[in-house]
Amino acid sequence: MVEIKTPEQIAKMRAAGLVVAAMHEACSEAAVPGASTKDLDEVAARVLAEHGAKPNFLGYGGFTGNICTSLNDVVVHGIPDAGTVLKSGDIIAIDAGAIIDGWHGDAAITVFVGEGHSAELHELSRVTRESMWAGIAAMKKGNRLVDVSKAVEGYVRRQPRPASGKYGIIEDYGGHGIGSQMHMDPHLLNYVDRRRGRGPRLVPGMCLAIEPMLSLGTAKTHVLSDEWTVKTNDGSWSSHWEHSVAVTEEGPLVLTAPDGGKAKLAEYGITAAPDPLAVR
Ligand code: MG
Repeated sequence: MVEIKTPEQIAKMRAAGLVVAAMHEACSEAAVPGASTKDLDEVAARVLAEHGAKPNFLGYGGFTGNICTSLNDVVVHGIPDAGTVLKSGDIIAIDAGAIIDGWHGDAAITVFVGEGHSAELHELSRVTRESMWAGIAAMKKGNRLVDVSKAVEGYVRRQPRPASGKYGIIEDYGGHGIGSQMHMDPHLLNYVDRRRGRGPRLVPGMCLAIEPMLSLGTAKTHVLSDEWTVKTNDGSWSSHWEHSVAVTEEGPLVLTAPDGGKAKLAEYGITAAPDPLAVR
């Protein structure tokens, strides 16, 4: 069963989403050479406290961070740690979440630390981010879940290939339903698998976290002995972008984007749903 939210519940998820956006803003500013991933976690904890929000990552299955900090060839679930220090040229995915009144937000960004990154890395992050937006643009009433997967994969495959050969669309992880819990049905693949069928029809009140993860090489990953950190099997670097999105009668509402997705969706000729928390 997919949880369907009322407009009031979506407004609470929007409040949680704005806290996640604030965590990302503060963490990106703090992601400078010399900072540890533990420093970023402390920044995230401070933002949560300032907004009276609860962490959803901390304690999840025993996870010890408020955010996931995934550096370079780490795809997802990197654990914040005082011994992991950022240096110029790194890329770090910061996955953050927050709970307000029992309702969850979840989003991820890829941040460039310092300078000296190759054009290929910039393109990796751009293609990952834009494939997420292509998926978000498919979040409309009447579409099926597979239409979101198809939009993400289709975007990636239409892009010029990287010098390394081909983007790896990570297969072991994907998006998910979100609402009264962080991870709920349905699971959202970032590619089309015909064996899975078309999935449920998208209806107003359905909320999904859309989160493509791409590498400059393989689609295959493994988990380190800490039981969290996920790395690419070939050591290729990866990018991760994520937004939590609601399907509404009035179009998609990007719960974790400061503007609700207005500017980016306009590029797709789509009007984002009005922000339920905007002062009218
Ligand atoms: Mg997620």
